[in-house]
Amino acid sequence: MTKSAVIIEDERDVSDLVRHALARDGFAVRQYFDGNLGLAGVDREPPDVLILDLMLPGIEGLEICRRLRANPKTAHVPILMLTARAEDIDQVAGLEVGADDYITKPFSPRVLMARVKSVLRRGTHDAQTGEVVRVGNIQIDSGRHEVRVEGEAVALTATEFKILKFLAGRPGRVRTRMEIVESVSGEIAVLERTVDAHVMSLRKKLGVAGDLVETVRGVGYKLREG
Ligand code: CA
Repeated sequence: MTKSAVIIEDERDVSDLVRHALARDGFAVRQYFDGNLGLAGVDREPPDVLILDLMLPGIEGLEICRRLRANPKTAHVPILMLTARAEDIDQVAGLEVGADDYITKPFSPRVLMARVKSVLRRGTHDAQTGEVVRVGNIQIDSGRHEVRVEGEAVALTATEFKILKFLAGRPGRVRTRMEIVESVSGEIAVLERTVDAHVMSLRKKLGVAGDLVETVRGVGYKLREG
């Protein structure tokens, strides 16, 4: 089955470089050069992966990310953010609003495709097992890629979902950041320090169940059983 990708990037040469790399790998690619049009395009037809620039005319990248994550129709779409070197400070902010990973310009097509495949793997793994797990007042349905807290659906990113599922696999057991990194990506694409940003965001979204995700200082995280 052909995979689809959307690129939202106003610099045409960067956008075309990304399009070439994706197309060579068999992706059907849609390009948008404006934030508003891009957001509308993703909402109309969610792609398998979104390549999203940070600074855009119309709506900027972080806001697009936030809006896609808040919408159950698009909350699961893997997002790889493009950032310029001067924007380093915004990278962790990108992860906090729900990007799955980021890549700094300039980048090679090879590195880009490795990241794309990594975020895609995180997304598809989840859909393959159909079990429902309950921990405290959290219910995790892997088949539907759905999390509920006290019956209310919570919109998580693919990475947050994977982290929660990993912690829920052995409630009460402490997991190190490195173990979390490995469970999420199958390779060290998500840096250890970005785990904290993902977990912070996950906790916020879980609301009343957020404090079940405990920090174990100097080690990592664990999920308490209520
Ligand atoms: Ca730009």
